[in-house]
Amino acid sequence: MREYLKFYIDGQWVDPIGSGTVDLVNPATEEVSGKIALGSEADVDKAVKAARAAFASYSQTSRDERLALLKAIKSEYEKRLPELAEAITEEMGAPASLASSFHTFLGTGHLDTAIAVLEKFAFEEKHGDTLIMKEPIGVCGLITPWNWPINQVTVKVFPALAAGCTVVLKPPQLAAYSAQILAEILDAAGVPKGVFNMVQGKGSVIGTALSTHPDVDMISFTGSESVGVQISKDAADTVKRVCLELGGKSPYILLDDDGLAERVAAATSGMMVNSGQTCSAGSRLIVPQARMAEAKAAAAGAAEAVTVGNPAGNAAMGPVVSKDQFDTVQAYINKGIEEGAELVAGGPGLPEGLDKGYFVRPTVFATTNDKVVAREEIFGPVLVMIGYDDLDDAVAIANDTDFGLAGYVDGNDQDKCREVARKIRAGAIYVNGGFDFNAPFGGYKRSGNGREWGEHGFAEYLETKAIIG
Ligand code: NAP
Ligand code: MG
Repeated sequence: MREYLKFYIDGQWVDPIGSGTVDLVNPATEEVSGKIALGSEADVDKAVKAARAAFASYSQTSRDERLALLKAIKSEYEKRLPELAEAITEEMGAPASLASSFHTFLGTGHLDTAIAVLEKFAFEEKHGDTLIMKEPIGVCGLITPWNWPINQVTVKVFPALAAGCTVVLKPPQLAAYSAQILAEILDAAGVPKGVFNMVQGKGSVIGTALSTHPDVDMISFTGSESVGVQISKDAADTVKRVCLELGGKSPYILLDDDGLAERVAAATSGMMVNSGQTCSAGSRLIVPQARMAEAKAAAAGAAEAVTVGNPAGNAAMGPVVSKDQFDTVQAYINKGIEEGAELVAGGPGLPEGLDKGYFVRPTVFATTNDKVVAREEIFGPVLVMIGYDDLDDAVAIANDTDFGLAGYVDGNDQDKCREVARKIRAGAIYVNGGFDFNAPFGGYKRSGNGREWGEHGFAEYLETKAIIG
């Protein structure tokens, strides 16, 4: 049983002023795995005061001082990788193989990227007699979700610290353990007091206290659209910068090429990674209508091949994060059946052989883009296949969505895929499995307004000043 009953404020583990504790449940076993303290507005105020006080000196540190700090963080982070992975499996149910690879490696990648960006970043530029400077924006409130917990914390904390900002992190209750370990890592690395602060608790309390706090300069939020809207309203009175990374319903276009079945299979198993709880998941697979039968067979085969079970063991897919999430995903699967989408694989209820835990059957529908299951973010292991007539039709379907976070295009001709990618209205389009820590990541339309990763993510934490004359 884990007990995390202190907050990290001003370089110390302190008792909460608080509003009690909450038990956390392991989604694979439905048993209590530990508890955390719930903070209050007063805890946030204390953390913001510490961050404000630290900003005066930390914002003036040199590039080399901050590089040394990030390198010290890296060495502490690497020591704790196995513990981080274990915490992620326990808190949100990611399979051990995924938690000890992609989940935790993303943190290393964001740290390496923050170091590389800081090494080269031009903070000052002369334009004639005018000096244009980039300065750290100030005290940043960072609010994160549970689905890729360490990724989402590190993609904010590391660039913010690299930029010279001070932060107050509000991790998700559902993934509080890995955040707690990250705070221990930052403490061990010698982050100066007040530069990094963490308060656990309810979003409606801690998140709201940050969004409305007059001495917080910026909120960086990753999570749902509804909370993103609320934060924007809450932050408006104090004119904060608000960077939002929200949901998606990303299109995955497959060109009419040889190897379609293999690509369908890969896209289907890709959808099931992390139990489909990935904001940028390619959840609408857009395939040539003329080859739908072949595509459905390949998707069914791939979905049925995904092993579901104990995430601490060898299963490829663990549970979804919580009972609420399980109920939501089940409701969407039932909705798809009700609205006449063809069930290609999976369906409602627990996978065969499992009688406890929030496990969902890897599910595939074939339908049209107007159905609820094709329009709303399900955030579970549910893929929707949609047929297209020609590439213009494929692009029209891809763009017929409220979201614009990501997109995927796979086919034999890289240039042709890139041409299709240019036409998709979304922030990041992955062509034939492309991946780049330096590529900006963030949404068009309802998927948000921020950009994280790489130099663009770093720049979010900077203000611009001109000295003229
Ligand atoms: P969520 O319910 O919006 O929660 C996200 C965070 O906001 C949590 O820490 C939550 O606290 C907090 N929060 C809740 N109410 C708040 C309020 N009124 N003010 C301030 N903060 C508040 O999202 P989720 O269910 O954890 O995550 C799933 C969503 O995140 C999906 O829509 C997914 O697509 C999106 N997402 C987007 C990206 C991206 O980069 N674009 C990446 C990953 C996920 P609690 O601890 O109380 O929950
Ligand atoms: Mg939520």
